[in-house]
Amino acid sequence: MIIIKSDEEIARMRKPNRVVAELLDYMGGLIRPGVTTKELDTKAEAFIVKRGGKPAFKGYHGFPATICASINEEVVHGIPGKRRLNEGDIIGIDLGVILDGFYGDAARTFAVGKVDSQALRLMKITEEALYKGIEQAVPGNRLYDISHAVQTHAEAAGFSVVRDFVGHGIGRELHEEPQVPNFGSPHQGPKLERGMTIAIEPMINEGTWQVRVLKDGWTVVTADGKRSAHFEHTIAITEDGPEILTRL
Ligand code: MG
Repeated sequence: MIIIKSDEEIARMRKPNRVVAELLDYMGGLIRPGVTTKELDTKAEAFIVKRGGKPAFKGYHGFPATICASINEEVVHGIPGKRRLNEGDIIGIDLGVILDGFYGDAARTFAVGKVDSQALRLMKITEEALYKGIEQAVPGNRLYDISHAVQTHAEAAGFSVVRDFVGHGIGRELHEEPQVPNFGSPHQGPKLERGMTIAIEPMINEGTWQVRVLKDGWTVVTADGKRSAHFEHTIAITEDGPEILTRL
C-alpha cells in the first residue's frame, strides 16, 4: 500500500530531508585526494547528531555506517573504511537521516580532484536522468513514467540502467511502497497522487547494467568493472508538481 501523506506530514518531512541536503553539501567540501571514507563517515554522523537526528542507514539490516561510500566501479552500499580517495576517482555518497519520526534520503556522486571526461559525462547524464524522472512525478501520471524518463535519458547517452536496485517510497519508514525502478514502460504502474513521497535514485553504469555483491555482503559493483554513478532526491508529489525535499 502506498501511504499518502498529509500536508502536515510533508511539512515534518522537510526537516530530515533538509539535514540530508546540507550534509551532502558538507561532504562535497570534504572530498579530496587523501581523505578516507571512514573520515567522511565519522564527520557525517557527528553532523547528523548535532542537528538532532539519527543516521538512518546505521544498523539498517546491520549496515555498519552512517554513509554509503561507493567508489568508481562500486554502484551502491560501499562500506566506509581505510581506503583513501585518489585523484581521478568518482565517489557516490548516499545517506539518510531520521528526525522527528520521518526519514530523508539522498545521494550524489562527486569527482575527486580532476577526473576524465567520460566520468564527468557519466555523472552529468545520471544527474540529468534523475531530474527527467522528477519532472514526471505529477498527479495523474503513472509511476513508470518516471522510470521510463530515467531509462530513456541514460540509454540515449550510451549508458545502462541498474535493474537490481531501485528507488522507493519514504516517510515514517526508510523504505515504503512503491518500488521505483529506473527502467520501465510509460503509462504503466500505479497512478501518482498528491501526498506521495518517494526517493528517485538512478544508478547508471558506463558498461553493462549487470552488477554483483562483494563478499562483505554489502558492496554492489558493476559486473564488468566499469564505473557507475548514483544521484537521488526525496520528493513529495504536490498539486503543483514535484517538490524536491532534499534540495536547499
Ligand atoms: Mg534511497
